[in-house]
Amino acid sequence: MTKDFSLRSVEVSLSPMERFEEFLQSRGKRNTEQRRILLDYVFRRHSHFDADMLIDQLPGKGEDGYLGRATVYRTLNELVDAGLLRKFDIDGRSVFEHDYGYPEHDHMHCQECERLLEFHSDELIKLREAVARDHNFRVTGHRLIISGVCDECNKSRRRKKRKQDLI
Ligand SMILES: [Zn+2]
Ligand SMILES: [Zn+2]
Repeated sequence: MTKDFSLRSVEVSLSPMERFEEFLQSRGKRNTEQRRILLDYVFRRHSHFDADMLIDQLPGKGEDGYLGRATVYRTLNELVDAGLLRKFDIDGRSVFEHDYGYPEHDHMHCQECERLLEFHSDELIKLREAVARDHNFRVTGHRLIISGVCDECNKSRRRKKRKQDLI
């Protein structure tokens, strides 16, 4: 069995923007400049973010491309419905990340620095399929978040402890 926890690559035929436009059309909505700006911004790089973090990074009031809070929230939810973003909860906070065109993965969440580390496990997928089969359950997805303390935080903890021991 493989012990490779790296993420697989996926290929998609449509760009996120094309996919979003298809979705909007199916809902009888039109793409707008505001939706385009937000999608462009969000798909520039892969990250884990919440709505408030995103609002802080976007242009502010009076600047070009300013998006109001309500627009950001509404558009993020549309992006989730369109299958472009996925949303999950960590400590009561809603976190978003790319779903479309991004490989399936799970997370380790560091409770000290709040970092989310990604990994993929074939064994986990096999376990999921086996459990589902046993219950005649049709799988549409899963979420696993391992909580704990990351390597870096562990190291700095040990350094601090060593310093204390010296005093
Ligand atoms: Zn950490
Ligand atoms: Zn992730």
